[in-house]
Amino acid sequence: MALILYAATSNPGKLRDFSTAAAEEGIAVEPLPGLADIPAPEEHESTFAGNARLKAEYYSRVAAQQGNPVLVLADDSGLEVDALDGEPGVRSARYAQDAGYALPGTGNAAPVSTDDRNNLYLLDRMHGIAHRTARYHCVLALARIGEVLFTADGRVEGEILTAPRGRGGFGYDPIFFIPELGRTMAEISLEEKHALSHRGRAFRALLPQLRNLPH
Ligand code: IMP
Repeated sequence: MALILYAATSNPGKLRDFSTAAAEEGIAVEPLPGLADIPAPEEHESTFAGNARLKAEYYSRVAAQQGNPVLVLADDSGLEVDALDGEPGVRSARYAQDAGYALPGTGNAAPVSTDDRNNLYLLDRMHGIAHRTARYHCVLALARIGEVLFTADGRVEGEILTAPRGRGGFGYDPIFFIPELGRTMAEISLEEKHALSHRGRAFRALLPQLRNLPH
């Protein structure tokens, strides 16, 4: 019988990153049943690994309490900029908001998306900084009945541009340049993105450990 991992996410992009990597090994990744009805835990850890572990433990415990002692896969990811000591890191999703960043000249009146605001704030923070290396980093944790069994990391290395380029992707993709491709993450096809995704890489790093799953 094929191994099934239940992902603690309903984000279609993440599910596709995981499923694509899993299918190569005959493993299925499906959304955790009833996920929308489970209150989300507070992600209060200071590292991706801490938050991934916290989520995997929590959701696998709740699933077991509901009669499903299944393998639960949880992830945490974001952007790490070297010149900013790893910021935005675990605050990637709410970087500008947490900093109370006001857009220059608009008084925040203009309808700017959270992603655009985060990108503008990061570009502001990077103003005048020549050393612009950064990476997307994902940590996966696999747990059963509230206990983490394995974790794994995946990274994509790049550089922060001085202005956005491209209309694809989401988040920091328009300012995240991949030197080996000569394009930003917002300028590559979905297929290319899924092939080099930090989530896919983390999943591939998890695979060898799955062979040692306790029964
Ligand atoms: P999450 O907590 O793993 O969903 O991701 C946190 C934040 O990291 C997102 O809201 C994005 O700002 C950023 N992020 C994570 N992965 C990506 C990616 O593949 N492209 C662009 N931004 C990303």
